[in-house]
Amino acid sequence: MKIGIVGAGMVGSSAGYALALMGLASEIVLIDRDEALAVAQAEDIAHAVPFMSSTIVNAGQYRDLAGAGVVILAAGVSQKPGETRLELLERNAAVFRAVLAEVLPVVPGAILLIASNPVDVMTQITTRLSGMDPRRVIGSGTILDTARFRSLVGRHLGISPQSVHAYVLGEHGDSEVLAWTSARAGSVPLSSFAAQVGSPLTAEVRAQIDDGVRNAAYRIIKGKGSTYYGIGAGLARIVKAIARDQRDVLSVSITTPEVAGVRDVALSIPRVIGADGVLADLFPDLDDEEYSALNRSASLLKERADAIPL
Ligand code: ADP
Repeated sequence: MKIGIVGAGMVGSSAGYALALMGLASEIVLIDRDEALAVAQAEDIAHAVPFMSSTIVNAGQYRDLAGAGVVILAAGVSQKPGETRLELLERNAAVFRAVLAEVLPVVPGAILLIASNPVDVMTQITTRLSGMDPRRVIGSGTILDTARFRSLVGRHLGISPQSVHAYVLGEHGDSEVLAWTSARAGSVPLSSFAAQVGSPLTAEVRAQIDDGVRNAAYRIIKGKGSTYYGIGAGLARIVKAIARDQRDVLSVSITTPEVAGVRDVALSIPRVIGADGVLADLFPDLDDEEYSALNRSASLLKERADAIPL
């Protein structure tokens, strides 16, 4: 499958790099308003290919997206000093308006994979602007938060993250919800397995894991300015589910008719992903506290998305 990436900055190029190493795409096309950047990133990534795969990596123009099955949207502007979150959002919405006007006529049938932040609101805006089926406009959402959650729980229990079945729901950001109640190790409820192996999930351990998941991005940004390898691999993982029609269950964001009492809001819950995009939603069992937290997260996202005039 041919994959397009619009925005060849840190996130877009990391996704391209992960895709190239995994050999998932026949061809990757990188596009950026800064053409020299796109050319340099494509050449650098192409030099990794001979070690791992046979993917063709090129920089290009929008017309070169023709035939792409998935287009990753990773373009965006960063926050100016003194700029509010809403002002930044309005500028990023303007970037997406311009990008979509170029992308949609060339590849009206492609699945759009949104990476730019705030990803849930950008996903909702893209769905509205494009008029596409919401199930084909997918935000990376909490795919990375879920990976971090599984990794920390797995480390505490002494098992691999792949054997932990747990999801982070809601916003990719401060109001996200770690769904402890429905979490499993293998087929066993997490707390039961934790007791069996003598590593109980005390309130203190849960608080540490919650902090490790919720505040990971802040710590990384403090140390190196921004985050990109994790999300790059996460985007490649979503592309794999689509390109191979794997019907994997991943936590991603799409505009959803109703979640926790809130209508028409883009946020993450576990969803089945295959060649046609999101095929089904899986609403996990939540306790009252988790449900309320998900309702708060959904309400907040809905309010932010509604504040953007289109
Ligand atoms: P991130 O860390 O999110 O990847 P970057 O600033 O590194 O952030 O990358 C964002 C990229 O988006 C930049 O390379 C920028 O040139 C690109 N970009 C911004 N606006 C547009 C646009 N209208 N069309 C295409 N690319 C754009």
